[in-house]
Amino acid sequence: MLVGVLALQGDFREHLFALAECGVAAIAVKNLDEINAIDALILPGGESTTIAKLARTFGLFDRISARIHDGLPTYGSCAGMILLADRIEGAMEGQESFGGIDMTVRRNAFGRQVDSFESDLSMVGITAPPVRAIFIRAPWVDSLGAGVEVLASVEIDGQLHPVAVRQGNLLATSFHPEITGDNRVHRYFIESVCKAVVA
Ligand code: GLN
Repeated sequence: MLVGVLALQGDFREHLFALAECGVAAIAVKNLDEINAIDALILPGGESTTIAKLARTFGLFDRISARIHDGLPTYGSCAGMILLADRIEGAMEGQESFGGIDMTVRRNAFGRQVDSFESDLSMVGITAPPVRAIFIRAPWVDSLGAGVEVLASVEIDGQLHPVAVRQGNLLATSFHPEITGDNRVHRYFIESVCKAVVA
């Protein structure tokens, strides 16, 4: 299995490092040949508006979106979560997403509505101890369709906000496991979403 990390902008190197630590073959993806060659995709943290614009500029947008909608296992962290959302609240004018997950995400919920912060989360599919979650101008999920499973939430002012979700082959987290040195979310993606066996 070959995992591609979209390498147009953002923290793709950290994802490549986490995948290498998991013992998975991984490449930085920047062109159509690479997009066509991969068996799974990671959309990194960064700036969702910039990543979407660059994907358009380089002629990659429609092919990435088509592969995601055709069932390519895909994981998006933070900006990557926004790119996987069917609907964006607080989008820049004309901001596009690849879509795939039937949800509305609120951009910059952490960092505008509430401060960016770190927290320990329990997450469905990942055994204890809790996952250290770092939220940096991150989205949360405002609403979701019946086919979307919530894997983790944070409680703010008595209200629960989903921050890790899965719909079939698509996984998204508001936070950045790639910058914590804890590879359990990447392992969950590889083993449970991609159904690949790794060392
Ligand atoms: N605020 C960014 C966006 O809207 C996401 C931030 C991040 O990936 N840490 O794309």
